[in-house]
Amino acid sequence: MNTIDLSVPDWARRTAENLLATHGEGPHVVVTGISPSGNIHVGNLREVLVAEAIVNALKARGSEVRFVFHADTIDPLRKIAPGIPADFESYIGHSLSRVPDPEGCHVSYAEHFLSPFEEALKRMEMEVEVLRSHELYEGGFYAEVTREALDRTEDLRNILQEVSGRKMPEHWSPYLPRAGSGQLTGARILEHLPEERRVIFADEDGWEEVADYSKGEGKLGWRVELAARWKALRVTFEPFGKDHTSRGGSTDTADRMAREVFRYPAPGRYEYEWIQIKGKGAMSSSKGIVLLPGDMLDIMPPDALRRMVLGRDPARALDLDLAEGFPRFMDEYRADTEETPVPFAHLVTVAQTVAGDPDRAAGMLGRGGYVEAASNSEKLRRDLVYARNWAEEWAPESYRFGVCEETPLEAADLDAGQRSYLAAVAGKLEDGMDGDAVQNLLYSTAVELGLKPKAAFGGVYMVLLGKKSGPKAGPFVAGLDAGFVRERFLDVSGDTTL
Ligand SMILES: [Zn+2]
Repeated sequence: MNTIDLSVPDWARRTAENLLATHGEGPHVVVTGISPSGNIHVGNLREVLVAEAIVNALKARGSEVRFVFHADTIDPLRKIAPGIPADFESYIGHSLSRVPDPEGCHVSYAEHFLSPFEEALKRMEMEVEVLRSHELYEGGFYAEVTREALDRTEDLRNILQEVSGRKMPEHWSPYLPRAGSGQLTGARILEHLPEERRVIFADEDGWEEVADYSKGEGKLGWRVELAARWKALRVTFEPFGKDHTSRGGSTDTADRMAREVFRYPAPGRYEYEWIQIKGKGAMSSSKGIVLLPGDMLDIMPPDALRRMVLGRDPARALDLDLAEGFPRFMDEYRADTEETPVPFAHLVTVAQTVAGDPDRAAGMLGRGGYVEAASNSEKLRRDLVYARNWAEEWAPESYRFGVCEETPLEAADLDAGQRSYLAAVAGKLEDGMDGDAVQNLLYSTAVELGLKPKAAFGGVYMVLLGKKSGPKAGPFVAGLDAGFVRERFLDVSGDTTL
């Protein structure tokens, strides 16, 4: 037995240990499944990250693990996602893999929503196999479990009725053949021909048709499919959101179907809670409240995203704060992963002060005392991109600024005291002063002139940014060219100091 990897979070280690106790040493197959019927958001990513953490925990214990992301591309379109043209209504009931891309950029509706998610998994360097259910069905992978399901239609129906407490229609079938119209729903199975792997069915208009279930000409209904795919893929673990695990829900029926019909043990499980976006509510593709993993990867490195989305315990609901609370989150993350991290707020200041110039950014950080960060140019470039993207997309107004190229018009409102103060500072500001030195200079000059710090610093922000407030003044001013600052300070003081 290998030693326990302490980098594996507690909840994942406990879950993996339970799984090893109930399902043996392996090999294990960890699966997550998502229907690409709309944007695949960060809430969905939480499920994949839970699975990844369990995979890592199992590997740390020496188990062999296969990690699969099962994209439910053959699922029928149930509802038109927000922003999709209304005429897509006519595709409701058709497989997502056979509905056109509403924006015309991918081969299908399924691919349009799956591809950005898959791209994000790649950016995260996640070692996961992405399987598309329509390809599995078309390749005959589910033919054997489909045959079993059709043979045991009555038993499956009974389980569904008992668990859900709902009466199933008389012609209920575990299999949904695809009619000539493309419809997966509304058919009535007339006959099962197991030798030929076909069913004969009446379509929604009563016409007789044939479907070959070894060629993807239909699919299993969702609850049956869940149990059937556990068996077909030899799944030993799958996380679920609480919508599936409620009493009488899909996992309750699938557990019984797996045991009683497919003769396969129900996989280990972890129930995760929803993610909300602070100020917006629970994430939901159908309500249009979405945050894509790619959006988060634009403002933080993959491991920070993993930490943020999993939270301390994924069994608990989580509020994602990408605005006010974000700099603190990044500072905590970097404190754990870097030797001498630059405060995120300062990176945001640097990013907005020097725009995209890495040399000036390094100079500004060096003068601010962050010599190590200044010397690692590749990392610095990445960090500045995160900081700039955050400033543009998420930062509260108080973090946003741009240095004015000309003296801003608002500077006309400065009073005589502020003007003399700026002149005095200009007389003492030297090239190469660091952030602390400038901060001391700004403060002590205000004290000498009997000016309140708020008025003094307000004057500094006003002439440089055209705003009453801004980032911490010392490091910010130290990051600018001293000659530029002196000239600007004297420019506004010139007309009152005689
Ligand atoms: Zn597309």
